[in-house]
Amino acid sequence: MTTSAAAEIETAATFVEKRPLERYVAPAQPSLVGLSRDALAEALGAAGVPDRQRRMRVQQIWQWLYVRGVHDFDAMTTLSKDLRAALAERFTLLRPELAAEQISVDGTRKWLLRLPGETAGAPHEIECVYIPETDRGTLCISSQVGCTLNCSFCHTGTQRLVRNLTAAEIAGQVVLARDRLEDWERAASATGDKRQISNIVVMGMGEPLYNFEAVRDGLNTVADGDGLSISKRRITLSTSGVAPNIARVGAEIGVMLAVSLHAVTDELRDALVSLNRKYPLRELLDACRHYPGLSNARRITFEYVMLKGVNDSLADARALIRLLKGIPAKINLIPFNPWPGSKYECSDWEQIEKFSEVIFDAGYASPVRTPRGRDILAACGQLKSASEKLSARERLALRAMAMTD
Ligand code: SAH
Ligand code: SF4
Repeated sequence: MTTSAAAEIETAATFVEKRPLERYVAPAQPSLVGLSRDALAEALGAAGVPDRQRRMRVQQIWQWLYVRGVHDFDAMTTLSKDLRAALAERFTLLRPELAAEQISVDGTRKWLLRLPGETAGAPHEIECVYIPETDRGTLCISSQVGCTLNCSFCHTGTQRLVRNLTAAEIAGQVVLARDRLEDWERAASATGDKRQISNIVVMGMGEPLYNFEAVRDGLNTVADGDGLSISKRRITLSTSGVAPNIARVGAEIGVMLAVSLHAVTDELRDALVSLNRKYPLRELLDACRHYPGLSNARRITFEYVMLKGVNDSLADARALIRLLKGIPAKINLIPFNPWPGSKYECSDWEQIEKFSEVIFDAGYASPVRTPRGRDILAACGQLKSASEKLSARERLALRAMAMTD
């Protein structure tokens, strides 16, 4: 891309870190769903459960919440009637509420979730997406209502940040998805291998590393082997590049890492991901290089959104390979998904193929499955009339984000 083209985009992408406009205000009767063990123990203390009993009670309730997925305190039959009544008086078992659902012809489901709690204005809403594939099912969850940052190609970035999600709201998305997909029994079966949700990606709304503690606690609840039990190797957290927190992801969460790279020069990345002005490429890639536990079997995924005439030349592809040299990496090409008012176009399919070939020839697995992509683009016309369905482009972008190898 030419310098003037970068300069043109740059004018609209100054770096802003938005401040949350609202804080989480718990409802008078909060839900236990999504709470960590520590938070549950605290809640039980508030309900009058004596100290010496708390560990055992937490363990019992943990099973009901995260192995059985119960909706009613009365179903918790290992607890005394009195304790069930005391809990029901103070707490609920509410999940985030499903406000709208879009289902695509291939089974991809996009959910709009309304969060319980007091708000100054409209209720807080987030998106959550389920992407089924033959060998896995991926749930894409959100970490914030809106986003702290303002990447110039991202629709979420145009929203004012409303607030950070709590740890319980982060894990609660997985609980709600298990309900909706009727996945509790399958997940609890001996091997759990028939379960619908096998993988999680933190790639919905928000920048997870600007809400670090809640994301950490929420994901640790999701990964707990006595509960929701999604292995950390099957959870991927995507960041736009909050370099100083990358080491903490390794030390305190231990999930797989994805980095939204999108550009191979600081000049262009400043324009696309304005956070680059704070943590430039060198600092970001250094943090990646030091991510613990990297090996050829355990790679960082670098996401690269394909923007026509902006970052999609074959010279960019070659520079990308040079840049990632020495880092065990996968490269995920994401077709740009346009939104009302967006100033970019998605690269032509032929260009994505050529770009992908350069990457493939350098020894990386083919990052976009060409035949599937073609199929979906071909289905574009059929989908247009059904406005409540996901668009073909949107599905393609979502599939790429599901990180299919
Ligand atoms: N904030 C985090 C995670 C959420 S975004 C991050 O930026 O990594 C998940 C991925 O979708 C990111 O790689 C992001 O750059 C990409 N993305 C955002 N808007 C997009 C769009 N309109 N089309 C395609 N991908 C997009
Ligand atoms: Fe936020 Fe990620 Fe969108 Fe950037 S791409 S605005 S970090 S959600």
